[in-house]
Amino acid sequence: MKDFAELERKLGYEFKHKMLLSEALTHKSAKKPYNNERLEFLGDAVFDLIVGEFLFFKFQKHSEGELSKLRAALVSEKSFAQIALNLELGKYLFMSNAEENNDGRTKASILSDALEALIAAIYLEAGFEVAKRTALFLLETNFPHIDAIHLIKDYKTKLQEFTQSAMAQAPEYETLRAFGPDHKKQFEIALKLDGKEFARATAGSKK
Ligand code: MN
Repeated sequence: MKDFAELERKLGYEFKHKMLLSEALTHKSAKKPYNNERLEFLGDAVFDLIVGEFLFFKFQKHSEGELSKLRAALVSEKSFAQIALNLELGKYLFMSNAEENNDGRTKASILSDALEALIAAIYLEAGFEVAKRTALFLLETNFPHIDAIHLIKDYKTKLQEFTQSAMAQAPEYETLRAFGPDHKKQFEIALKLDGKEFARATAGSKK
């Protein structure tokens, strides 16, 4: 059996049943009588509920559509693979040599599925509250600004959709100036439509 202590420390959770942990880390290519596919199935639903509840209370003024977009950004292969990479989950996985030679330990889909399976395993042996605490800890440490980034990106998309339909053109953004120390840079950006300045704003990010 592999030494899981380091992984458990990073997760902030120690498994009571190491067999369950082992199952969560077993890719279907491993020649074992079990694999993490069923746990992954459950973990997907567990993550949806945890993140849905989190967003529901955190963003009390957001519409269902905005909440759905945020949840889709958080409960995604991309974001889970990112978390899994930071946990170095790949090195704990059981998989066939063929899958390993096929870069299986760094493959986004395999990493993401294993993370879902892990959360399901925690849910099964410790309950929803502990699974929630673990999942939110991982999401918040990996994506401290997820709300701002995704919502602002969304505003830019919305503005573009609006100007495309109303004026048949896309907005242009011009950086007027950047100032302040490197670690606290400020940008003054002008929004232009049809070559004319429409609005300007200053913020700590160009987004
Ligand atoms: Mn999955």
